[in-house]
Amino acid sequence: MKRVYNFAPGPAALPEEVLLKAQEELLDFNGCGMSVMEISHRSSEFLSVLDHTESMLRELMGISDDYSVLFLQGGASMQFPMTAMNLMHDKKTAYYINSGNFAKKAAKEAELFGKVIVPASSEADGYTHLPKVTEDMFSEPADYLYFTYNNTIFGTEYHDVPPCPKDMVVVSDMTSCILSEPIDVSKYGLIFAGSQKNIAPSGLAVVIIRKDLLGLVKGLPSMLDYSVMAKNNSLYNTPPTFDIYMAGLMMDWLKSKGGVEGIYKLNKEKARILYDKIDSSDFYKGRVTAKEDRSIMSVTFSTGDEEKDKLFCSEAAKEGIANIKGHRIAGGMRASIYNPVSLEAVKALKEFMDRFEEKNS
Ligand SMILES: *Cc1c(COP(=O)(O)O)cnc(C)c1O
Repeated sequence: MKRVYNFAPGPAALPEEVLLKAQEELLDFNGCGMSVMEISHRSSEFLSVLDHTESMLRELMGISDDYSVLFLQGGASMQFPMTAMNLMHDKKTAYYINSGNFAKKAAKEAELFGKVIVPASSEADGYTHLPKVTEDMFSEPADYLYFTYNNTIFGTEYHDVPPCPKDMVVVSDMTSCILSEPIDVSKYGLIFAGSQKNIAPSGLAVVIIRKDLLGLVKGLPSMLDYSVMAKNNSLYNTPPTFDIYMAGLMMDWLKSKGGVEGIYKLNKEKARILYDKIDSSDFYKGRVTAKEDRSIMSVTFSTGDEEKDKLFCSEAAKEGIANIKGHRIAGGMRASIYNPVSLEAVKALKEFMDRFEEKNS
């Protein structure tokens, strides 16, 4: 058996320990003689899985009882309309920072439910930096401010809530960075993340919502109403049970790595190795022009030559470095170095970059 160094943007690499644990328990979960995939979502065995996943997430992120944690379907993209449907209640207006493709898609969905104001955008610059946001951009009353924490495709990342009025409800898409660095949950009204990058296999969306934001809009379809999902402990219908189980194993694994603080140290080191390589070479160019906006999860770069970029990806694949091609709208290369991507994998990529540069410059 051969495992490659996998830099996939999502569905992404999972830790070997987690896959092996799932394999070990696959035929007989917890002595019940069935797989976790084969038992009722209302069975006591599964209820303890759900409870474990939730309590581990609460512990790892420091989520207080003021928040509900929901496990929903539809991935991150379902949250684009769902956040707007549930939160545009009073002013029917929201601010959307246009920092990338996913932010833009979210704004477009929100327009179905109310007025969208874009206070800042870096689209005209190809999203090579984060849009500059200042507090005076928020003069109109609004229900919330929405921003994408890590811009997966372009490789820029916020490391805190952008400057905004104190009483602003803040909503953030953390799909590609949740659990990768410490964040202060209490600054947010709602955080969501699709599962396939740092949480579990694809198929799940985790939503962390402040309880006072539940049930503000009446008459929503039950499946799209956070308050219904919260009231039913994410069991209004059959949830993606295997995914929730896998998420629990991922949380256990993360805890064994020193939790979010521990993995953050490692993530910074992984990113540093790649950015140092890019910065010390004339051959590679980082896609992000503002160094302070660089992501520690999504490292985007190119050789500046499309043919060489193509060659880079195909040669890398031959050496067991997989899924390094950039997103089609950004071009070049992208190393997605989510939590499960090891330091060893990053070092292997860096050494490949050295060799490729020597041969092709
Ligand atoms: C991957 C990604 C999405 C899309 O996720 P889906 O689960 O495929 O809908 C949305 N936002 C961000 C920031 C992402 O990285």
